[in-house]
Amino acid sequence: MEKVLKGKEVSQFIREKVLRDSSKLRADGVIPTLAVVRAGNSADDIAYEKSIIKACSEVGIEVKSHVLEENISHDPYVSFIKEINENKNIHGYMVFRPLPKQLDEKVIKHLISPRKDIECMNPLSLSRIFEGETDVIVPCTAAAVIEMLKYYGEKLEGRNIVVIGRSLVVGRPLSMMLLKEDATVTICHSKTHNLAEVASKADILIAAAGKARFLKKEYVKPGAVVIDVGINTDENGKLCGDVDYDDVFEIAGRITPVPGGVGAVTTAILLRNLIKTAKKQLKLS
Ligand code: NAP
Repeated sequence: MEKVLKGKEVSQFIREKVLRDSSKLRADGVIPTLAVVRAGNSADDIAYEKSIIKACSEVGIEVKSHVLEENISHDPYVSFIKEINENKNIHGYMVFRPLPKQLDEKVIKHLISPRKDIECMNPLSLSRIFEGETDVIVPCTAAAVIEMLKYYGEKLEGRNIVVIGRSLVVGRPLSMMLLKEDATVTICHSKTHNLAEVASKADILIAAAGKARFLKKEYVKPGAVVIDVGINTDENGKLCGDVDYDDVFEIAGRITPVPGGVGAVTTAILLRNLIKTAKKQLKLS
């Protein structure tokens, strides 16, 4: 049994299925298409957009990039989003965040059509996760964690799972999705008392706190599965997770690295979501 759970392998597995699905859609005359909406030209956004375009091209998904002025005001931005919602040739889209300061994300996210909401940003999309519905568009990072666990044969039903982090992007939806899988879930956060004691009861321990290498071996039950969602930079500017990998490695039964763990799977889920929204719009699933 593999000790180190590698995201690349899981990502490859998902992408192969996405490629088969997109080829089938193309054979039926439909070009699965993702739109990217970027306001301004931040270097980080451009780099991310490039990586998305590359990932899409490898699985037969077309990308339409829309670059808006960084100082675009609310009304034209909203009109643009509404146009994309109506455009039948676009099956899903991503709105790059953070939005420029004159745009209110709390308002904008409600306008993203749940039919095209491949990042699960609209609270309506999230509510479906919280209601435990099946056949939904899933939040990418949370789904990446579950795919990792399933791919490597980890049973979820009845397991004691501790999630550290309660953000709407990762911790909360992930906890609800694990609950749907019949795990027994404990959610921890910055006000949790005796975190190490709570965490060390977990069969599966998931860190999504955004604190570089804070999770040490005293947080881990011997043999536990440790999943690191964190993507941080340490004091030397080096990429690292929330887990102190070297400290935890011996005591953990299984562990994900950073980089090369959950982060490697997230984009694959985004691609899979796009295929899913395309099929739903075409009433193929
Ligand atoms: P976030 O919005 O900052 O939320 C962090 C959560 O962790 C909060 O609920 C916070 O508690 C909790 N927390 C912070 N410090 C803690 C501590 N010392 N002990 C216990 N709980 C603590 O972050 P996020 O967006 O959820 O992201 C979390 C991490 O995942 C980041 O490193 C981010 O870069 C990474 N991430 C990775 C991916 C991926 O694809 N792998 C995708 C998204 C995010 P309170 O609620 O009490 O403040």
